[in-house]
Amino acid sequence: MITIKDLHKSYKTGNNSLHVLKGINFNVAEGELVSIMGSSGSGKSTLLNILGMLDEADTGSYTLDGVAIKNLNEKIAARYRNKFLGFIFQSFNLINYKTALDNVALPLYYQGMKRSERMDRAQAYLEKVGLAQWMDHLPNQLSGGQKQRVAIARALASDPKVLLADEPTGALDTKTSYEVMDLIQQINDEGRTILIVTHEHDIAQMTKRIVNLKDGLIIDDTQVNQVRALQHV
Ligand code: ADP
Ligand code: MG
Repeated sequence: MITIKDLHKSYKTGNNSLHVLKGINFNVAEGELVSIMGSSGSGKSTLLNILGMLDEADTGSYTLDGVAIKNLNEKIAARYRNKFLGFIFQSFNLINYKTALDNVALPLYYQGMKRSERMDRAQAYLEKVGLAQWMDHLPNQLSGGQKQRVAIARALASDPKVLLADEPTGALDTKTSYEVMDLIQQINDEGRTILIVTHEHDIAQMTKRIVNLKDGLIIDDTQVNQVRALQHV
């Protein structure tokens, strides 16, 4: 699903350059559930943003479901992003003045889906994440865990090949984190490829493979025995 070879990324600010990714090699097969770990500033978000086509590497190659991702114009990049990728963020990134239902339906509007179809689909995905009773609520009427479920429904509604989550439990208490991880595990059980950035060891243990970043390189990449989140809920 994902192949990256010798990926480098530096940030330039004024006269300074910060070399953040120093030659990352890594493959992800369809159906994997991978966590990317590393201390703060180790480049986890930088890597995830490149995988998510939100940013571009300086050198190296990236192939996503057989498509070489490089020097794409913004229109084509946006089309691939919509087609291949779903995003989940620590801070949920919901639109505060739209209901849960409208938040989930909005990306489908931008993809040109007609209203009745996108509303049906948004409703189905909110039901899937357990929020059937909450569809008409605004984000500020929902708990953190519920907001993240809305964000997960929104990410799934476009039926992406890969789900990318940057610290999806970072703003949640422990119990709610495990509930969200249970949902992520269920989605992965259905075959969806998922990558999660986290700095929490217990969250990483709930994935199937842990990739450790340090000083811009992968220092460890290990399959783990997945801990089911439900055990802790
Ligand atoms: P992590 O997600 O592992 O905490 P990041 O990928 O966010 O790390 O950041 C890696 C390093 O790159 C940090 O030192 C950060 O300050 C720097 N950095 C991240 N984004 C930018 C940017 N847009 N411009 C300049 N420096 C950045
Ligand atoms: Mg980060």
